[in-house]
Amino acid sequence: MIDAARGLAAWVRDLGMGTSTLSEASKNLSPRTRGLRPTVSVCPYCAVGCSQVVYHRGNRVLSIEGNPDSPINRGTLCPKGAATSSLIDSPLRWRTVRYRAPYSDRWEDRPLDWAMDRIAERVATTREATFVERGEDGCALNHTLAIGHLGGATLDNEENYLIKKLWTGLGIVQVENQARI
Ligand code: SF4
Repeated sequence: MIDAARGLAAWVRDLGMGTSTLSEASKNLSPRTRGLRPTVSVCPYCAVGCSQVVYHRGNRVLSIEGNPDSPINRGTLCPKGAATSSLIDSPLRWRTVRYRAPYSDRWEDRPLDWAMDRIAERVATTREATFVERGEDGCALNHTLAIGHLGGATLDNEENYLIKKLWTGLGIVQVENQARI
């Protein structure tokens, strides 16, 4: 114990005298975020709401880290939050609409406009065919149980607000979020 204390004291003394025990390679290390612009944001994935620092240059996000000033996560992020930048630049992300026709065994790329028109058409026809104005007891229902909506965890508050307004306005009550599955 005493030897360890003496060793530590000698190490501190050496540091003070400019004879650091750091190697040249260690002395020349610098943070990977040096020179980047930091912007504080919130992890998009779950309701914990961890704060993030997004480091960027120009229009490119180069690193996303936990915000040490946040009382919620104090600089930490879980593995999912730490991989947030892959939302933006992962080569594995699909960037086109993928469609599999009924009974087909393969996926096809389709234009976004085609997909939006098809979804709108199917929602309209399904709602028309299944809309229930009143229950058996005469109570007003004004809903359809034939359509559901599953949102993504990276949708923001404003998007979720609009989605809820749209679907409940059409009488669609099964509105869920992928984060709760
Ligand atoms: S870092 Fe993890 S725990 Fe924190 S908000 Fe994101 S997903 Fe949730």
